[in-house]
Amino acid sequence: MIHVENLIDGKFVNVEENFDDISPLDFSVIATIPRTKNVDDAVTAAKNALEGWSSLKLHQRCDWLDKIADELENQIEEVARLEALDTGKPMEVALNVDASRSVNNFRFFADFGRTLESQEFKMDDATNYVVRKPVGVVGLISPWNLPLYLLSWKIAPALLMGNTIIAKPSEITPLTAHFLGKLCVKIGLPDGVLNIVHGYGPEVGQAIVEHSEIKAISFTGGTSTGKIVAATAAPMFKKLSLELGGKNASIVLDDADLEIAVPGVLRSSFLNSGQICLCGSRVLVHSSIYEEFMEKYLQDLKEFNIGPVISEQHRSKVLSYIELAKEEGGQILAGGRVPDKAGAWIEATVITGLSHTSRTATEEIFGPVVTVHKFDTDDEAIEMANCTQYGLAGSVWSKHRGREVAEKIESGMVWVNTWLHRDLRVPFGGVKDSGVGREGGMWSIGFFSEAVNICVMED
Ligand code: NAD
Repeated sequence: MIHVENLIDGKFVNVEENFDDISPLDFSVIATIPRTKNVDDAVTAAKNALEGWSSLKLHQRCDWLDKIADELENQIEEVARLEALDTGKPMEVALNVDASRSVNNFRFFADFGRTLESQEFKMDDATNYVVRKPVGVVGLISPWNLPLYLLSWKIAPALLMGNTIIAKPSEITPLTAHFLGKLCVKIGLPDGVLNIVHGYGPEVGQAIVEHSEIKAISFTGGTSTGKIVAATAAPMFKKLSLELGGKNASIVLDDADLEIAVPGVLRSSFLNSGQICLCGSRVLVHSSIYEEFMEKYLQDLKEFNIGPVISEQHRSKVLSYIELAKEEGGQILAGGRVPDKAGAWIEATVITGLSHTSRTATEEIFGPVVTVHKFDTDDEAIEMANCTQYGLAGSVWSKHRGREVAEKIESGMVWVNTWLHRDLRVPFGGVKDSGVGREGGMWSIGFFSEAVNICVMED
């Protein structure tokens, strides 16, 4: 049994009340989690640490990020083991997706920081130069689907730019954040620079968003929670980054190479049991290749290894959408059932026969459930892809017209003949109800710093 504790001012501390961390694999209790309601101590620690941390040279903070990356890399198997335990995902996914990417996030921002150049704008009679100052104490709130991967994606650039942190991982998956905290204490990261608090979102998460001394909130989670976060933070004029839900389309055009498209679309449908915000939960296939595509897709699905979904509660939500799909006239081509074993297991499910505007095909399910739809023209595919409230990501599979169609998709990111192929320098984020702002490379640097212009008159 693991006892998760808050990390405040370099020390691990508990609160009076704790609650259980339940394994989605078999519903056993794997850890206890502090039910934190107040973040005053963490904020005081972060404020006290701010001057020392922000006055380090940029290259010194890059060195710290490298030290964290080294330590995580040394323990990569343990990171993956804890992530697999907490989320139920297969070990190979926890290792090759979650743990590796967490290391890369620190490594990437360390390297990226070393390439940052000062910006200058010359005038005839004066020179402007831009100084990047830290925002201050920042609040980082993350979800359960890619726990350390998404939290480290925020922690690394926040540290790089000289901010001090109050981080709150999901209450459903706190283990790797706790482990990261231990590593940071072990390597001697200055006290108070990284504070990690645990507990329920409406309690400790809300306390972070409401705290007047926390100057920026970087939030990744559901769209409905994002609305609450925005409503609380906006009147306080906090910097706000919102990475929210999605209902992404994978579009297979008539000239797609099915040798690439079928495994690519399948992976985007079901990796991490469909619980990645970028997953393609709507598969749109040109009618002329529909039969061939579906035959191969359903055949390959039999070999695809998925874990359970995150919790019993989440499985109930996913199952309710399978029931809704039947009511809406959908046919279940594969899956749809709950295997006879303990844990939040559910079969990978493929549904056809639904209108692309049905609730099942437009609302975020965030599980191993895809709806498949036929189209006849590129314009029809584009109209179908753009018909939801969301606009996070998408993929287009085509030998010749990928770029053309990709540019008409209303979302922040579109892949052509690939999916989840990530360069960490590029902008990451959504449009419409999928979020506000971008993360990645210079976009993260921009969010986690205040750009101050100094204009110097020439003699
Ligand atoms: P969630 O919104 O329920 O929770 C996310 C985080 O917010 C958790 O840490 C939670 O404790 C906290 N929280 C809850 N209420 C809060 C409040 N009132 N104030 C402050 N914090 C609060 O989301 P989830 O169920 O953990 O994650 C799944 C969702 O996240 C899906 O909608 C998915 O699409 C989305 N997501 C988006 C991205 C992206 O990059 N756009 C990435 C991953 C997941």
